[in-house]
Amino acid sequence: MKIVLVNPRGFCAGVRMAIDVVDQVLDLLPGETIYVYHEIVHNRHIVERFISRGVRFVESLGEVPSGSIVVFSAHGIPPSLREEAAQRNLTAIDATCPLVTKVHSRAIRYARQGYQILLIGHENHQEIIGTMGEAPEQTQVVDSPECISGLKIDDPEKLVYLTQTTLSTDDAGVIIDALKEAFPNIKAPPTDDICYATTNRQEAVRGVAPMCDLMIVVGSQNSSNSVRLMEIGENVGTRSVLIDDVSELDPAWYPSGDETIMLTAGASAPEDLVSEICKHFVNQHGASLHLADISEESVEFGLPLTLKRLMEEHGVDHKDRRIMVEPPTITAAEYGSTPVALTISGLNA
Ligand code: SF4
Repeated sequence: MKIVLVNPRGFCAGVRMAIDVVDQVLDLLPGETIYVYHEIVHNRHIVERFISRGVRFVESLGEVPSGSIVVFSAHGIPPSLREEAAQRNLTAIDATCPLVTKVHSRAIRYARQGYQILLIGHENHQEIIGTMGEAPEQTQVVDSPECISGLKIDDPEKLVYLTQTTLSTDDAGVIIDALKEAFPNIKAPPTDDICYATTNRQEAVRGVAPMCDLMIVVGSQNSSNSVRLMEIGENVGTRSVLIDDVSELDPAWYPSGDETIMLTAGASAPEDLVSEICKHFVNQHGASLHLADISEESVEFGLPLTLKRLMEEHGVDHKDRRIMVEPPTITAAEYGSTPVALTISGLNA
């Protein structure tokens, strides 16, 4: 059995930042209950680990006592929520990914210029709810080419489309083509809204999954980018499964024991869950580990302004703090074995 670990996989800079924000707030305010609006990132293990440290996750600010600290999740929020937090005298720390904030800024700018915004994405996803909230009167959600005929368009010359950051680039492309056909003068955003992490993880799947018998994506069912990875694996003809952790592995997926299995992880899945799966395959199935480095990532974010203020109030220097994600170091102790670099001939042997 061969396990092909692809890079990049797992945490993106936005998820790293959101988790670091909650960690930092817990460190700054020991003993105080920290509230997080919505799951900080869409991963069951991350949420459970924070709950075990006393964090309370809420879906309504009404659940947060006046005067408390509330962290907004990586997916962003509508501005009405920020106003509600201020009215309720909450200290709000915003862990919205800067790449989501960029889409919000575009929505605000185009709405001010009088555009109607067609927002490509999944209607009930937290990110879409947040972006839509910037200009609700001027925004309509498009989640498939089929819904284009039901759109209410005032002026087809004053239309722009934006996209959710975690869509499949293939699916979004199909919808964008259909929009362009229906509205030839629709304006495109200056750069793609689908983020670098989503794009890179999807490219790695398209490149490597066709050479494998099975693809395992580590991530939660409510993680949009993880579900997209699984769908892309299926689209390129490789059986693909999405699991939260090693306990969900099913031996029926690898009946011969001689399979080549690609292993990747959604942007919100922690690496220790990946390493446990590797260790399982090495120890229980004698698997060899292979590394497939598809692309490098060097995106770096600063800390959110609201966190910097809180750190200053507590006398913590934040000047040199940056958020970036290094590729994981693979050790035999954590992964069961050290990997060899992938060769196509090695895979096909
Ligand atoms: S997946 Fe992209 S948009 Fe979402 S948190 Fe990560 S970097 Fe930001």
